[in-house]
Amino acid sequence: MLFPRGDGDGWARCAAGHRHWGLFGAAGLLVRSGGAVLLQHRAEWSHHGGTWGILGGARHRAESAAAAAAREAAEEAGLDPADYTVTGESVDDHGGWSYTTVLAHAVERVTLTALTAETLAVAWVPVDEVTALPLHPGFAATWPALRSR
Ligand SMILES: [Zn+2]
Repeated sequence: MLFPRGDGDGWARCAAGHRHWGLFGAAGLLVRSGGAVLLQHRAEWSHHGGTWGILGGARHRAESAAAAAAREAAEEAGLDPADYTVTGESVDDHGGWSYTTVLAHAVERVTLTALTAETLAVAWVPVDEVTALPLHPGFAATWPALRSR
């Protein structure tokens, strides 16, 4: 399946001077099911390649974080919004750019397949084993706070 290039695709610079993907910010979906969370292993050639993080990406203009996270999770792993319930949001605001983690709960750990070239794998990772993985720096920074939620 082909998806149109989003109007939010592009690099932005936040007030802290970092370079971030997503002209209108970015959003990701942190799905928890029992004692595991759904993570994406990012392709080596991608930004912060080889690391693990959550499914997500650039928001489109005027697109809510929840809609963007759901769209990216469907594109990248075929995750059906019917398979999870959104329970909250956590915003990491860098000033001029923000990353919103959309928190969700899934009753079942549905089997998913990596659908995009930038996704090596998607897996349900036990919460206790997350920090043993090489994590995407953005996800690594927010994980301790997210874990407690
Ligand atoms: Zn930043």
